[in-house]
Amino acid sequence: MQPLYSFVIPVYNEETNLPELYRRLNATGDRLGGKIEIILINDGSRDRTLSILRDLHSQDRRVCYLSLSRNFGHQIAVTAGLNFARGQAIIVMDADLQDPPELALEMAQKWLDGYQVVYAQRSKRLKEGWLKRLPAYLFYRLLKRLADIDIPLDTGDFCLMDGQVVQMLNKMPEQNRYIRGLRSWVGLRQTAILFERDPRFSGKVKYTFAKSFSFAMNGLISFSRVPLRLSTYVGLLAAVAALIMACMVLYWRIVAPDSPLTGFATIMIAIFFLGAVQLVSIGILGEYIGRIYEEVKGRPLYVLAEVAGFEENKK
Ligand code: UDP
Ligand code: MG
Repeated sequence: MQPLYSFVIPVYNEETNLPELYRRLNATGDRLGGKIEIILINDGSRDRTLSILRDLHSQDRRVCYLSLSRNFGHQIAVTAGLNFARGQAIIVMDADLQDPPELALEMAQKWLDGYQVVYAQRSKRLKEGWLKRLPAYLFYRLLKRLADIDIPLDTGDFCLMDGQVVQMLNKMPEQNRYIRGLRSWVGLRQTAILFERDPRFSGKVKYTFAKSFSFAMNGLISFSRVPLRLSTYVGLLAAVAALIMACMVLYWRIVAPDSPLTGFATIMIAIFFLGAVQLVSIGILGEYIGRIYEEVKGRPLYVLAEVAGFEENKK
């Protein structure tokens, strides 16, 4: 029996990319040696995206779409698509053609060889500005050091996953979803294929610096408790410093009464430094507590406004 491949693609204001995306997916589908379904998730677009999705669906029944009730964010849009995917292998990619659809052929080959996750790893990002590359470079290395699980360097969400892996992801209830981390958490047999990330086909980047930063924080906090421990370490260090200073003061009082300790500056520096350390620690604590709050509320991850193409669907 021929396998069914599901493409899961979040779309947010990508009207200019959709026709080309469809063209290349279609061509790739012909070469895959299986059936395909294309699941496009409209993440609250304000341009003509939704009407293009409707057109594509009426032309080609392999195109299914979900339309979320508002912008829920990239990770939630992917999650929605994964909930609806029916394939034995599921490919997640962006709609802006930065992830070349043709790479799915190579991924499918690895999957047939017995890997459950085939993720695309960026070999070079020469086509993106260094203002994006440098923080990304540093972040992925920091995450690797701090995370409890092994999250491979320089990988995004572009990957192929076996249906079994997607089933596991669908069981994970968290609101703060860092899919590339959750995917690593599942384990099983995973492998990388290297690729060079193309520039956007057209349109503007949707991840502003602030969005990317908060996304990175999510990743770090979801997969590491090291930041929480940081304040303990700094606290211990400050205690040791205080002890040393106490000894110095004692020594100067007894042995050298004309001490070099003329107070004000030292005291101010100490107060400000410790104040800063405490505030930062509270801030870090707040990040974790805020996430606990989000999780405890247990709201649904998204709201669907329109669904098409899943007539014999599961959900
Ligand atoms: N996207 C989305 N919701 C958002 C932001 C982005 O569905 O709130 C989609 C977007 O349409 C694209 C993918 O996520 O298909 C990646 O977005 P983008 O290209 O802006 O980010 P980058 O390439 O920098 O990761
Ligand atoms: Mg992009």
